[in-house]
Amino acid sequence: MTELRTLKVALLGCGNVGAQVARILIEDADTLAARAGAKLQLSGIAVRDVHAKRDVDLPQDLFTTDADTLVKDADLVIELMGGIEPARTLILSALRNGACVVTGNKALVAQDGPTLHEEADKAGVQLSYEAAVAGAIPILRPIRDSLAGDRITRVLGIVNGTTNFILDQMDTTGAQFADALAEAQRLGYAEADPTADVEGHDAAAKAAILASLSFHTRFALENVHCEGITSVTAADIAAAKDAGFVIKLLAIAEKLPAAGTDADGGEGVSVRVHPTLLPREHPLAAVHGAFNAVFIEAENAGELMFYGQGAGGTPTASAVLGDLVSAARSLVLGGPGRTETTTGQVSALPIDAAVTSYYIGLDVADQPGVLARIAQLFAEHGVSIEIMRQTIHRDAESNVESAELRIVTHRASEAALAATVEAVKGLDVINSVTSVLRVEGV
Ligand code: NAP
Repeated sequence: MTELRTLKVALLGCGNVGAQVARILIEDADTLAARAGAKLQLSGIAVRDVHAKRDVDLPQDLFTTDADTLVKDADLVIELMGGIEPARTLILSALRNGACVVTGNKALVAQDGPTLHEEADKAGVQLSYEAAVAGAIPILRPIRDSLAGDRITRVLGIVNGTTNFILDQMDTTGAQFADALAEAQRLGYAEADPTADVEGHDAAAKAAILASLSFHTRFALENVHCEGITSVTAADIAAAKDAGFVIKLLAIAEKLPAAGTDADGGEGVSVRVHPTLLPREHPLAAVHGAFNAVFIEAENAGELMFYGQGAGGTPTASAVLGDLVSAARSLVLGGPGRTETTTGQVSALPIDAAVTSYYIGLDVADQPGVLARIAQLFAEHGVSIEIMRQTIHRDAESNVESAELRIVTHRASEAALAATVEAVKGLDVINSVTSVLRVEGV
């Protein structure tokens, strides 16, 4: 048997994910060599503090603070430091040196993906980032490779475990957002500063990456409309539950006819992150706790769902090592490193052009003819009603009756819905609009 060649692997970062990657690289060296067709030799680990206590026992002589030198001498570079700099500079330097790069850095890929891909293409090496979206779940490679012969029409993803945990807690226990967040923090599902998760920024970076690969067009972070979950109340969740829905924070990328936004009548892609009502029987409604899942609709494949752990050191390391073996194979076989196609010519649509169903909660006066007036107003704005349900309340003190009205619409444009809600607010029989939430999967 011929001796396998050795490829030098530089690891940048040894935190939650990096430490597990280092452990598996050492423990499973023989298996990984057999699968890659080359020995993967961990040549060093760049960190800030070489003496810090690590989750895993690793040879002390592997650690260095000199990431620049480590990168210069590597065939494969794994970036697991996070943040924009120095990760960006180190990745660009690795690619320019002809090394393949594997990263889990969603923020960097969403912000600077085009520059990184350009550099990788120039050098003819692989740049891969399976771990950047939905942790352990193989989702980017299936979109890029397995579905390369199909046309994806829609992607719906639960891609942030923290917010899924919080919404699931609110749904199962009736808790308010603040209490569910505190519980998530106590259990280690949410950071002390949860802003990036609860405001939807983390999911937005993943939405940009999913949309770019699904529609073969580069979508930047600013193309993603982003709303978090901080304004979702226990009352919203209870009302949704009562109507047969569950509320999830979804990353959505879908192809729409770009009527009114594109002079040529071409297609556009709406990329957005917002709390969304899903029917309880939708496959994504069964994704509980901190789990992630991505639901894809493609012209030929139909509906597909990918489910699993969206975070955690060892699960995420699985995705990193999958990318590493694939990159090593490309070096052994000497194939091209192209990882992304941008042949799609679709434009990013503004949020006004998004088309979806809506749930609207209204507190109305309990008077004859109210339902008819509201229904007529919706019709005048071209928004058709699928379900309208009324519940009567009597205030114990004043003895005044009011009605709670719950409306689910057919698919309508965001602009038409916004105009309808404004007009509804102007009716003298409306006490308040209690909620307006988007609905998918009906
Ligand atoms: P982490 O626990 O914070 O670890 C970061 C590591 O990078 C630490 O070892 C740190 O060194 C090192 N580092 C940071 N800045 C550095 C610098 N300027 N120079 C040298 N070393 C530096 O991060 P993580 O949770 O493992 O995440 C790593 C990446 O994977 C991030 O991009 C994250 O978004 C992504 N990711 C994480 C998960 C997850 O479940 N954690 C899931 C999917 C993707 P010291 O240890 O010396 O401080």
